[in-house]
Amino acid sequence: MQLIDGKYTAETIREEIRQEVSRMINEGLRPPHLVAVLAGNDGASETYVANKIRTCAEVGFRSTLERLPSDVSEDEVLSLIDRLNADDSVDGFIVQLPLPAHIDVHRITERIRPEKDVDGFHPVNLGRMTEELPAYIPATPKGIIQLLERYKIETEGKHCVVVGRSNIVGTPVSILLSRNTYPGNCTVTLTHSRTQNLRALTLQADILIAAIGKPYFITADMVKEGAVVVDVGMTRVHAPERKLGFKLAGDVDFEHVAPKCSWITPVPGGVGPMTIMGLLQNTLLAAQHRVYPEHVGQDI
Ligand code: NAP
Repeated sequence: MQLIDGKYTAETIREEIRQEVSRMINEGLRPPHLVAVLAGNDGASETYVANKIRTCAEVGFRSTLERLPSDVSEDEVLSLIDRLNADDSVDGFIVQLPLPAHIDVHRITERIRPEKDVDGFHPVNLGRMTEELPAYIPATPKGIIQLLERYKIETEGKHCVVVGRSNIVGTPVSILLSRNTYPGNCTVTLTHSRTQNLRALTLQADILIAAIGKPYFITADMVKEGAVVVDVGMTRVHAPERKLGFKLAGDVDFEHVAPKCSWITPVPGGVGPMTIMGLLQNTLLAAQHRVYPEHVGQDI
């Protein structure tokens, strides 16, 4: 068994981004600018956004946090999006999810200009991704694809079973791995909570991607000998022995599954650190107009 080290790979990518930002600045360009919109005060969202802002600083990006109260109206969020859409000093922005329950997430996502949608959640970006056109790829699937690529994991003709069909992980990663490219050219089975006899399917997987949100759900008897296992799950579980009183658990029973695998991602230190890099890479692409070259703001 070999470990796919997401922490190390993310550090490598962070350095690549940092160098590219230095190059831009040396050429007299301004650094990429990411704006994060945070509505309400959900604890996990606060942490995610703080990490994004901190990592922006580490690579030399400019970042701005736009805070909104939890009782903000949908129209007020839409007005802020209109302002960010029109602001040429903003290369890309994200609206941190989940939003307060009274706000329609689809209306919000669709209001963001696709050229600035660095989360890659706008239907135009998802459609372009499916068509193999330049697009912002959602950060977590992008991170998974880059792990497979950087570890030179063979994907062509392999059977990939994805467990979980969310719009941010399972569905996009299944599309990406079925495309005619590398990493890709897999035969993909996308499974979910209504799938019957899941084990019979996971046992066929050459590549198994677990994005469920149920700690230790994938057990050793569900995994084929020699499989590549990517664990996206990240759930806080009670751990009184830890200083914080909790630890992060993946969707895979790592201890028993790892000995059967050719490659496996750990939790933490697997997909997690790659996700934020995906967002920064998208923001860099936005600042350099490389996805939508027809949208000219700043010269490259
Ligand atoms: P989600 O939106 O809750 O989706 C979970 C998916 O799992 C759904 O499609 C659901 O099926 C499926 N599922 C639930 N129970 C199942 C079962 N018993 N058998 C088969 N499928 C089942 O979750 P998500 O946003 O994709 O996140 C999944 C996990 O990844 C979470 O732990 C999350 O924290 C983590 N995550 C990590 C990162 C990272 O950076 N590492 C990023 C994003 C998410 P239905 O569609 O039928 O309900």
